[in-house]
Amino acid sequence: MVNAISVLGCTGSIGRQTLSVAEHLGLRVAAMSANRKIDLLEEQVRKFRPQFVAVFDEAAARDFRTAVADLDVRVGVGMEGLMEAATLPEADCVVTAVSGAVGLKPTLAAIDERKRIALANKETLVCAGELVMARAEEKGAEIVPVDSEHSAIFQCLMGRGEGELKKILLTGSGGPFRGRKRAELEHITPEEAVRHPNWSMGAKISVDSATLMNKGLEFIEAMRLFHVAPEDIQVVIHPQSVIHSMVELVDGTVIAQLGVPDMGLPIQLALTWPERKPSPFQRLDFWSLRDLSFSQPDLENFPCLRLAMDCAREGGLASCVMSAANEVAVHSFLAHRLGFNQIYDAAAAAVEALGHAPASDLETILEADLAARAFVKEHF
Ligand code: MG
Repeated sequence: MVNAISVLGCTGSIGRQTLSVAEHLGLRVAAMSANRKIDLLEEQVRKFRPQFVAVFDEAAARDFRTAVADLDVRVGVGMEGLMEAATLPEADCVVTAVSGAVGLKPTLAAIDERKRIALANKETLVCAGELVMARAEEKGAEIVPVDSEHSAIFQCLMGRGEGELKKILLTGSGGPFRGRKRAELEHITPEEAVRHPNWSMGAKISVDSATLMNKGLEFIEAMRLFHVAPEDIQVVIHPQSVIHSMVELVDGTVIAQLGVPDMGLPIQLALTWPERKPSPFQRLDFWSLRDLSFSQPDLENFPCLRLAMDCAREGGLASCVMSAANEVAVHSFLAHRLGFNQIYDAAAAAVEALGHAPASDLETILEADLAARAFVKEHF
């Protein structure tokens, strides 16, 4: 179990839940970072008293410094601040809850310091998963997934020997528009897209859940985390979100992890692993469960998932380009500048134009990420 944590992205949905888990576990919060929600950040800082806070946005950092002038806290700015929050000697675990590819560099820096990574930033593994996992292995840093599906798989694999795993059964609710045709999704608004039936999440991941891109990103994340091939992962639509994922073992046994859909559980486990601690979360009540149902994913009407699976099979820069293009397209959709179905169009066009090249090193990956963003801004 860890003693002190650094929370990157502490004002987001996962960040806020991480702080409440830290409070109930009695963990020290040594460092925090946020982008620009400084009112909430100030409230959090006054409560948790970290020694270092990074504010990504420069103007917001100035205001924040003034707001906490009476406190004994150092304030950093931009990527430099984020890097310091990720590597602060006092924290032995870094919770990477920032959204998007901005999480990559700080994650690598924290790995170099051999900190436990409680990984909640899936874009990092999608963009540069092979590199990140190889670095973690080389340095001996633990990576414990916070994403509920990957936490479930991690738990199903606990204590298993090498060669026992046959395949991963990655479950997903199917999102708020499950059952609809692509043509019917044309005029979906951001307000409709962020209303997820089971999970309460940030805007970007909510839209990704609605397009099924989130399941696609998780598909790639699972490949990297558990060192499996694309053909060893099967996506299973399970609308109730009670089973958080499963593994099939070589003898045919299937092990599932079940629980209420609450991110507090995987967050807590990432901080207490290899131990388990009592938690205040709601318990699964089998008498009130509706039927658990399962179906195949609809790749025709939700082509983002198919695109991600294709990118996973292709390797190289394809996944990174897709993820970066998707990130920009989702933000344009949230700002009412792009239609719901165009998110796929933008990601697919970017992969077609820029994704068919090898990902030789970090530099190449970061360049491809920027090129994909520029491509979507120019063409969509
Ligand atoms: Mg998930």
